[in-house]
Amino acid sequence: MAVSLENRRAMVTGAGGGMGRSHAVLMAERGADLVIHDVKEDGALETAEMVRSHGRDAHVIACDIRDVSTFTAAVAAAGRIDILVNNAGVGGARRRVEDVTVDIFDQMFEVHVRGTFFATQAVLPGMKERKDGKIINISSIYAMGGSDLASHYAAAKSAISGLTKSWARELAEWRIKVNAVAPGFIVTGMTQASNPPEKIAERAAGMPLGKFCEPMDISYAVAWLACSETDLISGQVISPNSGEVIVGY
Ligand code: NAD
Repeated sequence: MAVSLENRRAMVTGAGGGMGRSHAVLMAERGADLVIHDVKEDGALETAEMVRSHGRDAHVIACDIRDVSTFTAAVAAAGRIDILVNNAGVGGARRRVEDVTVDIFDQMFEVHVRGTFFATQAVLPGMKERKDGKIINISSIYAMGGSDLASHYAAAKSAISGLTKSWARELAEWRIKVNAVAPGFIVTGMTQASNPPEKIAERAAGMPLGKFCEPMDISYAVAWLACSETDLISGQVISPNSGEVIVGY
């Protein structure tokens, strides 16, 4: 039987679609109430309905994560948050170094690094007060092995690894556990937007375990890190990636 998340309240950023929706719905199935955030209000409302269909409460925050003051005020008004999943993200769009403008670079770091940093800052007062909390940052295999066509994305995800390890040290005193999940290639809106179907099929054929991970494979890792079974795991990176990327010690 899956481990329960009953009596827990989780916030997932970027949960209006893609893997964020899958993380939110799986945690609701396991008993958690949810705060659903996304810049796309329609998507966030749809996810909230899916959460409610499992009998759980859903509160929606619709704003750009780059608008730190609006986002922070909305989080403060949203009530208790025991679990934060820093998931909101934008893709690297198969860009070479020369194709990355200052605006594209800034957006990448603002959504992933600044977004993760200040979403975490927003939930810390409550977690510190309760001396309990789980923070799960979404990184990528590209933070582990690099990328030939998205170095700006790999750099932003590598920064998230640094935050994960640093916060695991800094926040242990308050029993706040901080880990990262680093997905392999998953077919979502993000990857379909920049990879033609034949590229996706070619890459799928090369997966050592025979197929791509699905969003739910990533959600299982997220829900496990959110539950009490992993209360003594902090500062770690779990990478469901169908065996494509394996890093050493
Ligand atoms: P997705 O595009 O389906 O979902 C990303 C969500 O983030 C969207 O709902 C989007 O609206 C939201 N978002 C983007 N910018 C935002 C902003 N400024 N403010 C608020 N919300 C914003 O993509 P996905 O594939 O589900 O990606 C989810 C996470 O997983 C991302 O962090 C991504 O980098 C990471 N990831 C994806 C893959 C993959 O292969 N798909 C692999 C590794 C890591």
